[in-house]
Amino acid sequence: MIVKSETLAKAENGGSSPPAEPRENLLGLSAPELEKLFFALGEKPYRGRQVAEWLYGRGVDAFAAMTNLPAPLRATLDERFTIGSLSEKARRETPDRRTRKVAYALPDGGVIESVYMSTSSRYTFCLSSQHGCAFGCRFCATGRMGRGRHLAASEIVEQAFRLRNELPKGTGAAGRPDYNVVMMGMGEPLENYDEVLAALGLLSDPHGMAVPPKRITISTVGLAPQIMRLADQGHRYRLAVSLHSADDTQRSKLMPVNRRFPLEQLMRAVRHHVEKTGRRVTFEYILLEELNDAIADASKLVRLVSQLNCKINLIPYNPIGPGKFKRPSPERIERFADYLRPRVPAVTVRYSQGVEIGAACGQLAGEEEPGTG
Ligand code: SAH
Ligand code: SF4
Repeated sequence: MIVKSETLAKAENGGSSPPAEPRENLLGLSAPELEKLFFALGEKPYRGRQVAEWLYGRGVDAFAAMTNLPAPLRATLDERFTIGSLSEKARRETPDRRTRKVAYALPDGGVIESVYMSTSSRYTFCLSSQHGCAFGCRFCATGRMGRGRHLAASEIVEQAFRLRNELPKGTGAAGRPDYNVVMMGMGEPLENYDEVLAALGLLSDPHGMAVPPKRITISTVGLAPQIMRLADQGHRYRLAVSLHSADDTQRSKLMPVNRRFPLEQLMRAVRHHVEKTGRRVTFEYILLEELNDAIADASKLVRLVSQLNCKINLIPYNPIGPGKFKRPSPERIERFADYLRPRVPAVTVRYSQGVEIGAACGQLAGEEEPGTG
């Protein structure tokens, strides 16, 4: 492998001059960071602001298109910098194109996936926060990949930057309609806390991609200390907690993380978050036939979330290959939901979009990766 890349570098350079410096990625830098960079380059700092406006405000992905910059500056930028570091490797779309799963190659190998979802009134981008996941929830394809690496803030921002081009032309920012962002792709966002929060800072920055915090949801497996931290730092993003069981023994079997942060500790953190932010929390609850879909399970769930401003999002299990889990019948799903409806503030049943293209919750596993496809 090493021999091959050396050979390639030599061939590209005609075998003589030293290999060119790798170009630096500008996407993911905030407007003030770009101003500083332009100042360091000997340019007027306001050029940095102009570039930020092109990138985040208008979604432009080529320096050549930044027409208010002098042509020589555009050429220099092209030589020294890139816009982004991901490359689209594959995509799968439903026949109606409402759901699109896009696989991106990371610069150091590995493939992550992002999902574009649309209904008649709503656009949602589902972003990955890690390549792989160390938490090993039994029902999740990403969990089967095992630990990978944290994505950098720039790699998280770039997923949204690229998916924005999938939107129909409209009237919102960058000439596109408004969209929601959910951190529900590959990985556990709160394990990669700093990079995820930096990325969301840029996504929600009015001088960045200007997505209002209330349109951004962080979904977590239940890392109680980080939930406390989110609340104490005053972040206003929506929180979704993957609960899936209201019983410690059963939850520990489904989600090993429950041994570290059992339900009592998790619920304390969630209550703290609701109090501090004033925002309703969402609990995700995958319905697994004969495992957690009985009325007795629903009753435990009601007790666990009592007095809490919450929504329960029931997700019928999406198959991820051979295994012991099954999606319950529509009748069982409705029975469970009907029990909850009068007893908790809000209940939804979410049939995930894109099951047939492997784009639904829990199905993302970098299938397009070399050797696993
Ligand atoms: N790591 C985070 C976010 C990514 S998973 C978390 O666990 O919350 C996004 C959501 O998909 C979670 O609620 C997760 O529990 C759910 N999920 C995982 N596998 C699933 C499957 N096979 N069917 C339905 N939902 C699944
Ligand atoms: Fe990781 Fe979330 Fe999948 Fe659990 S459900 S393995 S935390 S991505």
